[in-house]
Amino acid sequence: MTQATQTVIKHYERYVMNTYVRSPLVIAKGKGSRVWDVEGHEYLDLFPGWGVAGLGHNHPWVMSALRGQSRRLTHVANNYYHPLQWQAAKKLIEVSFDGTVFFCNSGAEAVETAIKLARRWAGGRPEIIVMERSFHGRTIGALSATGQDKYQQGFEPLLPGFVRVPFNDLDAVRHAITPKTCAVLLEPIQGEGGVRVASDEFLKGVRRLCDEQRLLLIMDEVQSGMGRTGAWFGYQHSGAQPDVLLLAKALGGGFPIGAVIAKRAVADVLGPGTHATTFGGSPLGCAAVLAVFEAIEKQELLGRVNRLGTFVFKQLTALRQDVPVIQEVRGRGFMIGVELSIDGRPIVEACRAKRLLINCTQQRVLRLLPAMTITKAQLDHGLSILEGVLRSR
Ligand SMILES: *Cc1c(COP(=O)(O)O)cnc(C)c1O
Repeated sequence: MTQATQTVIKHYERYVMNTYVRSPLVIAKGKGSRVWDVEGHEYLDLFPGWGVAGLGHNHPWVMSALRGQSRRLTHVANNYYHPLQWQAAKKLIEVSFDGTVFFCNSGAEAVETAIKLARRWAGGRPEIIVMERSFHGRTIGALSATGQDKYQQGFEPLLPGFVRVPFNDLDAVRHAITPKTCAVLLEPIQGEGGVRVASDEFLKGVRRLCDEQRLLLIMDEVQSGMGRTGAWFGYQHSGAQPDVLLLAKALGGGFPIGAVIAKRAVADVLGPGTHATTFGGSPLGCAAVLAVFEAIEKQELLGRVNRLGTFVFKQLTALRQDVPVIQEVRGRGFMIGVELSIDGRPIVEACRAKRLLINCTQQRVLRLLPAMTITKAQLDHGLSILEGVLRSR
């Protein structure tokens, strides 16, 4: 570690609240799937911004949209209109389902909005069924919805009304429904929970239950949305459609913006004055969203994720045959989990020493969320580093 890195870390310790587990890497700039530290070393990033940089770091079209819009206007209060918010909303509706969009600033805020929406829609039925090992964010409502005790400890009392059931267990959902239930909240592919894919039968079964029992089906695609899985949204692989869809992370191509898409009859319960957020759907954020759509469509990135995702999956599955620490390879498209029989954190650190950035969740699950723009050569390079590290265990 050089002086430049040490100085930054020392000042973080002095001035920045110590809420994150951080690796000793000071990132100075990025481009596509590459980042550079303050010492000038180049890294291959297979986990760019926890999925925020879905198009890679500093996608030129997003950068140019942000530069252009910042010269005109960055923020418009939501008691007025501006020309871009409806355009961003229209794009979201065109690739999902008919409804309307509420823009916010983060994933947790999208979850909070969905909780309020569901409770108001159901009137007097406050309970929401959530999944074990789910992750929905750190604000108190989203935290209460999250199905992992470790994130909740010390923050009680939590918001009441969340009933936790095992993921992919339709009978458990059925038995958890009471006259007080208003919604089921789930991730079609759990990210934080270890890259676990909901089965098509489970999602279709939950959809049917929600229809029969008049419940809202809310899908949190903050991580799996915006092309990550090779479809616009993870649910589209299954044939089961949500009533409410939550997005953030990659939505703004690096700019912080979240969205809640709700079917019209549901969205209508939130009339003027019932919900708001000062920064929501700013011209800057919406310009970024529109650039993200343009890039995914014109650069045909969904097809690319499908093609290269299949390639990665094949490579890792083949590797499993002769690297015994690999237990299972899971995921869809560019949302990839490799479950190990050993602690994954030393693997992440060993990869970083070899200039490859990946993630580990749930102790033993390596997680890769490559940018949609990554090249085959970059993927080959990253996988060969990972293979070398895993073989040395
Ligand atoms: C990251 C994430 C969130 C929280 O998003 P923030 O922007 O950090 O608030 C919620 N749900 C899922 C599935 C996520 O991956």
